Amino acid sequence: MESEKLVSYLEKLEQTSKTLELTEITSELFKEAKEDLPIVALFVQGKTFPAHSPKELGIAEKTMVKCLSTVSGFTEDKIKDEIAEKGDTGKAAAFMLDKKVQTTLGKEEVDVKGVKKAISKIASLEGRGSEDAKEKKVAELINSVSPKEAKYLVRLLLNEMRVGVGEGIVRDALAKAFDKEKNEVEKAFSLLNDYGEVAKLAEENRLDEVSMKLFRPLRPMLAQTVESPKEAVEDNCSAWEYKYDGLRTQIHVSGDEVKVFTRRLDDVTEQFPDVVRAVKENVSAEEAIIEGETVAVDENGKPRRFQLLSRRIKRKYDIDETVKKIPVVTYLFDCMYLNGKNLIKKPFQQRRKKLKSVVTEEKELKLSKMVVTENENEINQFYEKALELGHEGVMAKNLEAEYKPGSRVGYMYKLKPEAETLELVIVGAEWGEGKRTKWLSSYLLACKDPDKGRFLKIGKMATGLTEKQLKSLTERLEKDIIRQEGKKVTLKPKLVVEVGYQEMQKSPKYDSGFALRFPRLLRIREDKSPNEIDTLERIKKIYST
Ligand code: AMP
Repeated sequence: MESEKLVSYLEKLEQTSKTLELTEITSELFKEAKEDLPIVALFVQGKTFPAHSPKELGIAEKTMVKCLSTVSGFTEDKIKDEIAEKGDTGKAAAFMLDKKVQTTLGKEEVDVKGVKKAISKIASLEGRGSEDAKEKKVAELINSVSPKEAKYLVRLLLNEMRVGVGEGIVRDALAKAFDKEKNEVEKAFSLLNDYGEVAKLAEENRLDEVSMKLFRPLRPMLAQTVESPKEAVEDNCSAWEYKYDGLRTQIHVSGDEVKVFTRRLDDVTEQFPDVVRAVKENVSAEEAIIEGETVAVDENGKPRRFQLLSRRIKRKYDIDETVKKIPVVTYLFDCMYLNGKNLIKKPFQQRRKKLKSVVTEEKELKLSKMVVTENENEINQFYEKALELGHEGVMAKNLEAEYKPGSRVGYMYKLKPEAETLELVIVGAEWGEGKRTKWLSSYLLACKDPDKGRFLKIGKMATGLTEKQLKSLTERLEKDIIRQEGKKVTLKPKLVVEVGYQEMQKSPKYDSGFALRFPRLLRIREDKSPNEIDTLERIKKIYST
């Protein structure tokens, strides 16, 4: 597919925000994409690689400004001004390229495959001097397209396509284009985590062949919140487990090879050699996919703060040292695949039995603590015990339920003291005043509309932050600044925070239609990606109950 053709669809998409129209246009695009369908299915969402791929483009706004300056001949300052004025780097790029003094003669037509190839090349540049080489390649690529195409190419390179197409629309558009059921498409996606691959299988009528793959993490089943034990019991959840406060780990085993993935599907095998060892020595399976929570502990096995564990997740060097300093225990609670058998359709009860049959418990590897009861007193005692031991709360699970990857389906509930916390992403901030001028001190929070891949603002977190928190948030966020106007900055939606709040109100002030009163930071959620934050749907539900 010519890149110009793709751009004509992206332009059409950008002109509407209606779900039905977005779906219709995307489905036409998919039908026309033919052999480039796998690439187009990712590009239209502003993605260059699927989530399970270790490849990352990693082009910062700063680098992009430099490249645009090289290609257009305008100064970096002029480009920054243009971005600030247009509020969009893609639009600014189109404008600058249109106005540039020297024109390139004899341009060849660029196609989608060519763009993908160039992107893969850029992503493969690593190590010394790679920044310069990257810049050069990006500039070359931008230089090879028309200003109209550059608008979307630049957005793609920055991972922000902004045409209103997220996973939900892609799912519906694939179903429409190839005459499939939406849930068939969704199921394939939750197992493969790659809409490029799913699109191809849908087109070839092979969706029913999709099954789990070892070393390709599947999306974890998610939990819903309950306020009381009764609510969970009423929905047939009678298996109660401690809710450990750590990192959800999905562990894949094949012979002597073990890999550890986070709930964001990141591969953290290198960061957790101790987990790999414990699994190798104590899981007696030829092949398995098991799941658990990995928790930082002290010398007595008592849970320690999640923040400590997050240091281990981020660690790239001196891993042995952090392994010693921050030991972990993994509490296993599920088994989705064992020795050639896919278990996700089997009831939880059976999966747990299978898990138990292959795990030998030791200091660093245990089964999650579980009781089966519908008796409120017993549940409350178990809950209190969990809190007393320093755990976060309890989980309730349905013993008869299958494992539904990627969904929140009522087969698993969480109960914790502060139930109604929200996980939101920071999309903007303001530099402080007086003593606080060097810190970002007011943070704009957003929830997600997963269908359209948009973030919707819902409130500002400004009070009750300690200087230490301000400092650490500023350090984390500074590199994600996209634009600055006066004291206000716009941020790339990357950092997920868990917040408490006093009240939720309907309000036209924010584009979600809701506003939080006095949101306060409970913690930074390193383990969660912006894809996993609370949705507008959950916000509406909380508001209406
Ligand atoms: P939340 O992150 O608050 O949505 O709560 C759900 C998370 O609790 C899961 O994703 C797991 O990471 C974690 N968790 C801790 N203990 C358990 C357990 N026993 N069973 C399932 N999930 C657990």
